[in-house]
Amino acid sequence: MAFKPANSIQDLQYFGEFGGVNPSISDSSTYTFLSAKTMFDTFEGNADGCYLYSRHSTPSNLYLGEALAAMEGTETANVSASGMGAITPVVLQLCGAGDHIISSRTIYGGTYAFLKNFAPKFNIETSFVDITKLDIVEASITENTKIIYCESVSNPLLEVADIKGLAKIAKRHNLKLVVDNTFSPLSISPATLGADIVIHSLTKFINGSSDTVGGVVCGTQDFIDELRNVNDGASMLFGSTMDSLRAASVLKNLRTLHIRMQQHSKNALYLARKFEADGLKTVYPGLKSHPCHELFKSMMNEAYGFGGMLTIDVGTLEKANELMELMQNKNLGYLAVSLGFYKTLFSAPGSSTSSEIPEDEQKKMGLSDGLIRFSIGLDADIERTYKVMRECMVELSIL
Ligand SMILES: *Cc1c(COP(=O)(O)O)cnc(C)c1O
Repeated sequence: MAFKPANSIQDLQYFGEFGGVNPSISDSSTYTFLSAKTMFDTFEGNADGCYLYSRHSTPSNLYLGEALAAMEGTETANVSASGMGAITPVVLQLCGAGDHIISSRTIYGGTYAFLKNFAPKFNIETSFVDITKLDIVEASITENTKIIYCESVSNPLLEVADIKGLAKIAKRHNLKLVVDNTFSPLSISPATLGADIVIHSLTKFINGSSDTVGGVVCGTQDFIDELRNVNDGASMLFGSTMDSLRAASVLKNLRTLHIRMQQHSKNALYLARKFEADGLKTVYPGLKSHPCHELFKSMMNEAYGFGGMLTIDVGTLEKANELMELMQNKNLGYLAVSLGFYKTLFSAPGSSTSSEIPEDEQKKMGLSDGLIRFSIGLDADIERTYKVMRECMVELSIL
């Protein structure tokens, strides 16, 4: 039990076309049918196990989808060419003109930009709320609300969503709870806590090698079938399909995710404790000082820890930039956006990944100029990393 959901991935068995231990990679955009009738049935969505055309599905994409569904404990899943290629079809499949969404106000910049700037073109409006306040969430529901949208651990403020509480509200009002679990794969399993749909950007921890973008929607067979429907399925019609070669490569990386997450979490907890003890303003869900520490604990699969993301606040953007440049010069990591790499990545979200969010709204949600977001790497010797980081901070009079 303790090692679920990683052993749900481990227990899947594959036999390649020639008995290989990895499934064969499908290298076709289109598929033959032995009878014309089967082709018709497949278009109608009635021919299980038949492939039609690779924008719809491919064997390699289905293998990856099955593994991710096993990880999240959902019936099935649909992979896509990017995380945004998973998020946008879900929103537009569930909402039409006149509908309303309640979203956490601290979400990935691209998702924010889509809901704030793009969805209104279709007359889909979003209320951005403090998702940690369940009474505010419930009070924001209108007769047109269709979705409650949040991230398990939010980008970049690392706020934690009470998924069980939100699921109860969603049930009561017949809404879908959609959770982006990109920051906490394995650590949190939103579907087992009541989320209807779980989304990941595979680009981050799950693939873990910063060599591709990718995404997935995990949900019920009915919902995934809807997304893939040739007549009105948003995933099928928008066409952000993952390539089969990539799907095969992400599947291979997924198998070591549990080992990587344990190391990311171990290293991040070590640094967070040290930074906090040094008097830095440090946010990490594994710290007792984090307002959602107990909530995270109540939801987590303990073996995988509190994840690899932490933030510190060094006061000003100038200081943040100086520190990040110095840390890069000392080879402690890269000044880069994204997360989940073997090297530590750091960026100042206010001027990068969250720059889509207007400055006054950044201030309101507590996103300050001097904030540095770290995706802590797989460093074998984190004590040495800390020592050198500390030297950088002393050199710049941050400590
Ligand atoms: C990166 C990210 C996305 C978008 O994923 P892409 O693969 O870049 O399209 C969505 N949500 C979160 C939390 C992310 O970090």
